[in-house]
Amino acid sequence: MNDLIRWTASRTAAAIASGEVSAVEVTRAHLDRIGAVDEKVHAFLHVDAEGALAAAERVDAKRAAGEELGPLAGVPLALKDVFTTRGVPTTCGSKMLQGWIPPYDATVTRRLKDADVVILGKTNMDEFAMGSSTENSAYGPTGNPWDLARIPGGSGGGSAAALAAFEAPLAIGTDTGGSIRQPAAVTGTVGVKPTYGGVSRYGLVAFSSSLDQGGPCARTVLDTALLHEAIAGHDPMDSTSIDAPVPPVVEAARAGDVRGLRVGVVKEFGGEGYQAGVEQRFHEAVELLSSLGAEVVEVSCPSFTSALPAYYLIAPSECSSNLARFDAMKYGLRVGDDGTRSAEEVTALTRAAGFGPEVKRRIILGTYALSSGYYDAYYGQAQKVRTLIARDFAAAYERVDVLVSPTTPTTAFPIGERADDPMAMYLADLCTIPSNLAGNAAMSLPCGLAPEDNLPVGLQIIAPAMADDRLYRVGAAVEAAFVDRWGHPLLDEAPAL
Ligand code: GLN
Repeated sequence: MNDLIRWTASRTAAAIASGEVSAVEVTRAHLDRIGAVDEKVHAFLHVDAEGALAAAERVDAKRAAGEELGPLAGVPLALKDVFTTRGVPTTCGSKMLQGWIPPYDATVTRRLKDADVVILGKTNMDEFAMGSSTENSAYGPTGNPWDLARIPGGSGGGSAAALAAFEAPLAIGTDTGGSIRQPAAVTGTVGVKPTYGGVSRYGLVAFSSSLDQGGPCARTVLDTALLHEAIAGHDPMDSTSIDAPVPPVVEAARAGDVRGLRVGVVKEFGGEGYQAGVEQRFHEAVELLSSLGAEVVEVSCPSFTSALPAYYLIAPSECSSNLARFDAMKYGLRVGDDGTRSAEEVTALTRAAGFGPEVKRRIILGTYALSSGYYDAYYGQAQKVRTLIARDFAAAYERVDVLVSPTTPTTAFPIGERADDPMAMYLADLCTIPSNLAGNAAMSLPCGLAPEDNLPVGLQIIAPAMADDRLYRVGAAVEAAFVDRWGHPLLDEAPAL
């Protein structure tokens, strides 16, 4: 394996800036790696070798001209296929958008390009970001690089797998109920769901608009922070974008210190349904925090136990409205338009053929929950639960600075195991959903391998809205302590592909 592909993003950027390697060499090494392993991993739906090399050449030309390079200039990245990319296919893992070439860039895409990040291609995902395993992709599943017969998490399994397979040092995901953090946890990588409104949703194909949030993924906390800074900040094209300075995430990741910090262990996350090895590694991480000088207390957030049912009313309700745009008239798939059928018939045939079973299930559920007579009983109740969850968080933050929990109840499960059991699949997001409902910031980072299966376990850190920097301060301290203890980053333990 070419050593270069194991470098962190920050080291890669420094090597490009100093002339130790060219951006084109770095890009070629990653394209070669994709060529060598992606047939097995299937992290990518589309590789844009030409566009990536052209971007890398521009970075090398800038350097040759003596222009100053940004902190991630020339570093390759894998972009979840839910962000529009001008001239490059965007499918959202759905047949509905097969062959669609967007005429515009999402704000995240644009900011990556402005930062001279090299976009290698688009990554596999559960259809329209609905799922926890990437098995709902219309283009086939992605394998977990730790064990290709297991899921890489979802919906952003492709982005996480690309990192863990050393196909890219940086990736972008989106997190509506856990789709950045859960894949990070089960692949031994780092993922952050920024504060809702912290990263623009313009050009992010909508699933559930009040929950969706794009965010950074990488193999280290510092790399994640550098990417966070590159994509975050106010965007007038997104009405929910927060017009305030981006929290000092890079500074916090460089500082990495938990002394005197008050850490709350959420009592409701644990016990029945949690894998013993996951709980064990989580408790060790809590002990570690305490040994590093944090003040650990237990906190109770009783409404969190209702987060999952509330989410599975709110998210489908919003998706039933958002996905109405796929009507076969404006763009994307069109089925049965042979001159004999009405527009309504063409729309119905297109939706029947274009959407997969999970997307249909949610549209039906959401349409039902929003229908008159049921609205108050379902959607209205779920919104009340959402308020209670936000209150639980507010009460907890009166006592602590951050909250911690396992990111997921179990390690990566075998492909196929939960594919026909939506309820079992939904449970994967038990610990991640509350922070989406309340708009808080949250991170998952590796905290070891579960003893029973030698698969990665994620530690989740949750911080109040606009205190994203706390995630990085804590995450960097934990990461450094683990690397000291293990002698290397966790991914060094991963079996070779
Ligand atoms: N797994 C959750 C769901 O299926 C979360 C998905 C996401 O965050 N995009 O809705």
